[in-house]
Parts: sequence; C-alpha cells; structure tokens
Amino acid sequence: PAAALGQTLIPVVNKLQDICAQSGVSLPMDLPQVAVVGSQSSGKSSVIEALVGRDFLPRGPDIVTRRPLVLQLIQTKPNDDGSIAEYGEFLHLPGQKFYDFAQIRREIQAETDREAGANRGISEKTIRLKIYSPNVLDITLIDLPGMTRVPVGDQPSDIEARIRTMIMKYIRHPSCIILAVTPANSDLANSDALQIAGNADPDGKRTIGVITKLDIMDRGTDARNMLLGKIIPLQLGYVGVVNRSQEDIMLNRSIKDALAAEERFFRSHPAYINLADRCGIPQLAKKLNQILVQHIRQCLPGLKSRISSQLVSVTKEYASYGQIPESRAGQGTLLLNILSKYSEAFSSLVEGKSEGISTS
Ligand code: GDP
Ligand code: MG
Repeated sequence: PAAALGQTLIPVVNKLQDICAQSGVSLPMDLPQVAVVGSQSSGKSSVIEALVGRDFLPRGPDIVTRRPLVLQLIQTKPNDDGSIAEYGEFLHLPGQKFYDFAQIRREIQAETDREAGANRGISEKTIRLKIYSPNVLDITLIDLPGMTRVPVGDQPSDIEARIRTMIMKYIRHPSCIILAVTPANSDLANSDALQIAGNADPDGKRTIGVITKLDIMDRGTDARNMLLGKIIPLQLGYVGVVNRSQEDIMLNRSIKDALAAEERFFRSHPAYINLADRCGIPQLAKKLNQILVQHIRQCLPGLKSRISSQLVSVTKEYASYGQIPESRAGQGTLLLNILSKYSEAFSSLVEGKSEGISTS
C-alpha cells in the first residue's frame, strides 16, 4: 500500500545500490532503527502494523506485547515470473518460512508464552523476526512492551522499572528514531511516552509524537492543541492517527479498510480539516521517510569519496600496465555525476518540493 513506510524511497535506494554494485563499493549505509514507546494499550503495535502494511502483530487490551520484537524488513527481488513472495522467518526457527502472516502472529504469541509464561509475565529476551518482501526498505522496527505501574499476574513487583530499563536499552542509541505514542483520550502532560523519549532524546531531534485513538475522545473535545504542539512542543512535531478498534480486530477488518476509514474520519471531522499534514498513517510514513532521506543524504558524500578513490586506484592499476581504458574511467565519472544529481534530488525531497525521485 502507498501508506507503507519507505515505499517512495525504495526505487531511490535500489538505484544507489546499483551504482555501488557497478563501481565495486559497498553501500555504507545502515538505515536507522525505529522504535515505538508508550504506555500499555496506547496503540504501539497497531501503529507498527499500519506502517508495515501487513497484519501480523498480536494486539489488544491488557498486556499483549510482553517481549521486545525486533522486526527486520529485508528487501527481496520479485520472482523471475514477476510474482511476489512475502514471508517471515524467526531467528528461533531457522529455515522455517512463514508465508501466512496470521501464522506469524500465532508464533509471536507462542514464543512470548514460552519465555515469559502465559500469565502476563514479561521478558527482555527479544524475539527476532525477519520479513522478506520486494515491497519494503531494509529497515528495522522495534515493538516494545508498554509502560505499566501496577504488577498483575506473574509480573514482578518492580515491573515499572524493569520495563523502563528494557525500553531505554533500545531508544538511547543516538540513531534510533522514537515514535512516542500517546492516546488522545489521556492527558499529554502525563504521557509515559513523551517522558521516556525525553530522557533518551532530550533535544527532541529524533522523537516523533504519535497521538492515537482520535476516534474515541470525549464528545466535544479534540486533539488540535496536542497536534499543534501547543501543549507540549516537540521539534519534529506530532501526527494523529486512527487505528483499528478492538471491535475491528475481532471482526478481522483489513488494514486497507482501516486506512480508508481513517482517511474518511479526518476528512469529515471539522477539527482536523486544516491539519491534514498532521493526520493519518500515510503522513506518519511520510515524516519517517523524510528522516530516512536526510539520513541517506548524509551518507552520500562518503559514498562519493569511496567511488572516487576506487576510480583512482583502478585507473592507477591500469596505468601501471601502460594503458588507461577509456571506458572504465568514463564509467566511473558517469556514476559520480549520477550521484551528484541524486544529492540534489534528495535535497528537494527533504524540503518537500517533490513527491518522489525519478530513477530513469
Ligand atoms: P499497544 O499495547 O500499545 O501495543 O496497543 P495495541 O496496538 O495492542 O492496541 C491496544 C488496543 O487499543 C487494541 O484493542 C486496539 O484495537 C485499540 N486501539 C489502538 N489504537 C486505536 C485507535 O486509534 N482507535 C481505537 N478506537 N482503538 C485503538
Ligand atoms: Mg503492543
């Protein structure tokens, strides 16, 4: 789906990879990780699912996510006949390919129970899942247990501190992008998400505020002031979203239908009509894409100098044989030109002047 994270960037990154392959250098670029934080049942897993565009995460009231899930998206090529195979593979079940995403959800639940017990226990041992698809960028998303205060079931008495420590382990890394999720029907000033994100990222350089559950606010209230940053300002701003309700989950409503319903909600709600750029999963994906683009752009100068030096050494090597092949040198120069063009195109993408980059 068009909303999915990284979709518009895929052709760009593919082109860069081609350039690198042709010039014999590796792409010196690890896309940043994206982690979701917030209190229990705030909608973290729902947001990750919507961004990926597939149904595969356990969601629901109560504590559902009880172990960190490190979700690595890996881009594959379509099959020779043009067909597409998307599948998941767990680190703890090597070699077993899951083509059925409902089965992936069941395995996450089973594996959670294996390590953390069936009675609401938590564990900091991560579940690692790779999803292979031609429709994704190589990016890592981390779904984390929500913050909670009062121990229930098999939870230890220091559950609050334990979960905080677990979350900080992921989000303290300076390259981790933090999605701080707060439901619209709770007080932003009491947001666990903003509080822990503020600890990890005091300058607010890598925290995006996500306000969920706009559809179930008290009558007569709306989230305008939150989204406008009038309550708690955030450098990268806020995006409001409407995920599937528990009823939608029970009725097996698809992601596609949910995104369409979200769009209708924002289009028909008078409070959000002139806040279109701060509303909806597609806008959140766009915001993330802009951050990724900025990151890629920062990698370009390094890439250019590596291709240049590669070119110099190849030319020298040939010169030592007494001949300089025009084609090889010409090809290197051409690649550098293409890269320069890309740097400019990236700039305009970051500034929002163009929706995508032509790769022709
Ligand atoms: P997590 O614990 O933060 O991962 O939250 P989940 O994604 O598991 O969602 C918790 C519950 O809230 C589920 O029953 C979801 O259906 C519901 N939920 C999440 N986001 C929204 C939303 O935007 N609107 C409504 N009505 N329900 C939501
Ligand atoms: Mg969850």
